[in-house]
Amino acid sequence: MQTARVSSRYCDGRSFSFQSKRMEVDLWNEPRYSGIPVMTHLKPDLVDAVEQALTANKIDFDVAFHDLQTVIDSEKVMNAPSDASQAGAFDFGKYNEYDKVVALIESLAANNPSVAKLETVGKSYENRPIYNLKISSGKSDNKPAIMMECGVHAREWSSVATGAYLVNKLITQYGKDAQVTKLVDTYEFNVIVESNPDGYVYTWTNDRLWRKTRSRSSIDWLGVCRGADANRNFDIEHCGVGTSRKPCDEIYCGDRPFSENESRAIRDLMIALGSRIKAYFSIHAFSQLWMTPYGTTKKLPPNYTELSRVGQIGVAALSKKYGTQYSLGSIANIIYEAAGSSVDYAYVKQDIKIAYALELRDTGRYGFFLPQNQILPTCEETFDGLMASIEALQ
Ligand SMILES: [Zn+2]
Repeated sequence: MQTARVSSRYCDGRSFSFQSKRMEVDLWNEPRYSGIPVMTHLKPDLVDAVEQALTANKIDFDVAFHDLQTVIDSEKVMNAPSDASQAGAFDFGKYNEYDKVVALIESLAANNPSVAKLETVGKSYENRPIYNLKISSGKSDNKPAIMMECGVHAREWSSVATGAYLVNKLITQYGKDAQVTKLVDTYEFNVIVESNPDGYVYTWTNDRLWRKTRSRSSIDWLGVCRGADANRNFDIEHCGVGTSRKPCDEIYCGDRPFSENESRAIRDLMIALGSRIKAYFSIHAFSQLWMTPYGTTKKLPPNYTELSRVGQIGVAALSKKYGTQYSLGSIANIIYEAAGSSVDYAYVKQDIKIAYALELRDTGRYGFFLPQNQILPTCEETFDGLMASIEALQ
């Protein structure tokens, strides 16, 4: 498989259309405005045809990875424990398998009962628990809450890495780090580090580029294509713009709103926390974006000024350590219109006034295959940005 980076003209949703020929390819990031590359991977038999079509249409492209399988194989080696004694331990400088993520979350809760509590908010299609880690000092029943969901798209491993780093830091640095202590005293954090466990496992065992859940759709009665895009499955203009009703597509919205256990688990936590939620964060990769509602329309939300103020503080703090530059804007304006997302649902249906979706590093050099030396920096800078934005809440 080759990975080409192409400019965004002539892109139609998640596939290219060239004259009468339609070439179905998986776009890794949404087409935006000119100059921002769009990454895609191509099966060998499509390479020549797509290159010819791009050239004929005067669309610039270059090849990020000539042989993606080699990259996937070397990533496996890279993520293996460095020596036998470390097998089983979570390594924040690497991507970690599902079992290690779960072990980290469970041990953080078990070893720090005064600030951390583990609850199961749902079960995945394949019956894995969907955990919420509640992080708060003292009694938290009436505290304002922060909710965050990571890993809803399975292949976005840096989102899960960031969630794991964040809960670990909030829990282990409580009472040691002034900013952490203040925030954990003020808020009850609710973090779903792994929102799509089945998909995540599948990216490690079968298909590194799997995005959706692993459910079976009732309309796909042949059972050819599994899963729905859980972040197009919320009850907010379900199956509207930027989604697909075809079960085989990457942005399949599901046969009904909340058909997926995974989106239901997120919804149920939102409902349980109710009006206590002061800010909501949905963590994705990649493109370096800090996005506000709406995804369904280019119209800006009523409190966009406030969303923008808090977001700017986050973006500025995020850039401090490593100079990483993010763009801030509403989903529909900054990437692409997309209905059925958790953030729009949180904002519109649950009335959570501060709600963001983040797209982490990078902007199209490595895409989902961030080199190992960027994993921890990505976690650190995102933590800084998130904490600064939460401190800026009024
Ligand atoms: Zn995503």
